Amino acid sequence: MHHFQYKGEELFAEDVAIKDIVAAVGSPVYIYSKATLERHYKAMDDAFAQAPHTICYSVKANSNLAVLKTFINLGGGVDIVSGGELYRALAAGVDPKKVVYSGVGKRDDEIAYALESGILMFNIESEQELDRISDIAGRIGKKAGIAIRVNPDVDPQTHPYITTGLKKAKFGINIERALEQYQRAKGLANIEILGIDCHIGSQLTKVSPFVDAIKKLKRLLDGVRGMGIDIKYLDLGGGLGIQYDDEAPPLPADYGSSIQEETKDLGLHLIFEPGRNLVGNAGILVGKCLYTKKGEEKNFVIVDAGMNDLARPSLYGSFHGVRPVFRNQDGVIEGDIVGPICESGDFLVKEREIPNFRQGDLIAFMSAGAYGFTMSSNYNSRPRAAEVMVDGGKFEVVRDREKLEDLVRGERVPSFL
Ligand SMILES: *Cc1c(COP(=O)(O)O)cnc(C)c1O
Repeated sequence: MHHFQYKGEELFAEDVAIKDIVAAVGSPVYIYSKATLERHYKAMDDAFAQAPHTICYSVKANSNLAVLKTFINLGGGVDIVSGGELYRALAAGVDPKKVVYSGVGKRDDEIAYALESGILMFNIESEQELDRISDIAGRIGKKAGIAIRVNPDVDPQTHPYITTGLKKAKFGINIERALEQYQRAKGLANIEILGIDCHIGSQLTKVSPFVDAIKKLKRLLDGVRGMGIDIKYLDLGGGLGIQYDDEAPPLPADYGSSIQEETKDLGLHLIFEPGRNLVGNAGILVGKCLYTKKGEEKNFVIVDAGMNDLARPSLYGSFHGVRPVFRNQDGVIEGDIVGPICESGDFLVKEREIPNFRQGDLIAFMSAGAYGFTMSSNYNSRPRAAEVMVDGGKFEVVRDREKLEDLVRGERVPSFL
């Protein structure tokens, strides 16, 4: 459920007409609905009402300060994968004790920054990382809370690029080697073992892989507890899918009840790292039709938003629903919606039935709230789009459209030229 609906023949974000936003800030523009963000957060929070838990929103899905603040206001923490994301989350006012830090390539400076900030824990992804964090913690006189990110070798049955819990993935420590790493961690003076972590993939449309992973983690937990280690947290990562097209992912309530059933006797505080599920359907990208090329080999609708604005179709071949901002098109055509970028991979829609758009029409690309703006780039020297948040009948720009000067910020011509 989301709050991007038609009133009559015109598309609205909550109570704001999309055309009014475009008139004020131009296109392309990302539009987020605060009510939808809150609704999704609460659905996840309520799904785990029977268990002590913390929702650590995965910042990489959408890292705008306004989005972070929305969840922080509801009591949320964050899952970060870089020092930059920590900076954003702290700027948005996150409680450092609700920050978990994942990622296979944490740098020394990022580790030190996280320790100085007093985050809850690092999710350790390799043996060497464990030693590095221990060393840095010792050097700056802090104790590092950790969980080991276990790779449980479970197939999440999703796109290969977002599958992370199989043995061949770069993520986490193989579950068969995890016990010896807990043993090692126990002997490190500057490490405090707090939890067990896993994140098996993204856009999962079934509960069963999560349950399979938990079953494997429970065996590990027994072993770890058997060594006299007091585990407090079970971090189950993110990954719950959303509906882009005709998928039918489990509702948060179903996901919640299966997981609580599986974990209820463990005496652990659960941590979740949802990204896509909270923000995906809470955002849209709106572009304008610049030109059409119809009736040739293929029909093309050329818009002012491209793969630099929304990379998912090019990167994963993913589906985004398309809605006209005004339902005044006559009929439908079969064709592609493409951007201005000089790459044939620059498409937002490929070979689908779409409204018969005309020059000047505004087009909404649905489900663009997750991995949309955060994956955008300046490719082809295109300033990045504006971001707007809507709250009932009002809206505010939450990130300015980049200006031409922004494109060359920090660049300089060397003295020898
Ligand atoms: C990307 C990521 C998430 C969020 O995944 P979603 O599918 O967006 O919920 C959570 N945890 C980690 C470690 C991640 O890398």
